[in-house]
Amino acid sequence: MDGLRIENVSMRFDLPDGTHVQALQDVSLDLGKGELLSVLGPSGCGKSTLLNILAGFLAPSSGQVTLNGRRIEGPGAERGMVFQKGALFEWMNVRRNVEFGPRMKNLSEPERNTIVENLLNTVGLRDFKQKAVYELSGGMQQRVALARCLANDPDVILMDEPLGALDALTREKMQGLILKLWKETGKTVILITHSVEEALLLGERLLVMAPRPGRIHREYRLPFAERAV
Ligand code: ADP
Ligand code: ADP
Repeated sequence: MDGLRIENVSMRFDLPDGTHVQALQDVSLDLGKGELLSVLGPSGCGKSTLLNILAGFLAPSSGQVTLNGRRIEGPGAERGMVFQKGALFEWMNVRRNVEFGPRMKNLSEPERNTIVENLLNTVGLRDFKQKAVYELSGGMQQRVALARCLANDPDVILMDEPLGALDALTREKMQGLILKLWKETGKTVILITHSVEEALLLGERLLVMAPRPGRIHREYRLPFAERAV
């Protein structure tokens, strides 16, 4: 079975004072290979919790998630994550950041070079290979984050408000880049956003979540994502 299947996932955080937070309640969703889902909902409705479960950083209290029929039980290279900010290796240059996954896989230097060249071209940072991450603007850093994620060739890309910290103009450019990458690579993408506009622009499918307990409020299929690029 191809794709991501979320079955009756609930997440309860037990707090030290004896109370608990029901962060997710009975969330079920099927996402086919290559679909782009945007997730919208008020703060505290469990968006990040859901993404962290899909990434394998958190184990659900009940229910399960499978990717291509295999149960997710921890982090894995087939699921890449892009955070709002701060997840790059600050002490490494751009090239080293993008190369990180391929190095972990023990790919040869020529193989790594090809990957780095291609991806930095794709995200428009070919001339910035040797720059340190802290020398780059926020938008450029997010390009590096995208390239680093893609360097692992994940099946699924999980993005937690990837453009939330950027100014409006940069955000608009990055939305175009995300759509382009999604179309070119055919990867499954889940993108959390606070912006309705962004959710409508990027998502083919749109999930609206509601809080207390966190759950799916509504799901929409949007017919017009095609025209966005
Ligand atoms: P935002 O609304 O900006 O998404 P969150 O409320 O999701 O911010 O919090 C950010 C991070 O802090 C999350 O990764 C979450 O796991 C953690 N977090 C949120 N609430 C609590 C809490 N009550 N106790 C411990 N960690 C929390
Ligand atoms: P969102 O991303 O939609 O803002 P989160 O998934 O961060 O929501 O949080 C959902 C709920 O779970 C919130 O009430 C938050 O405070 C709580 N929460 C998240 N992470 C933790 C944690 N590690 N410990 C306790 N409560 C948490």
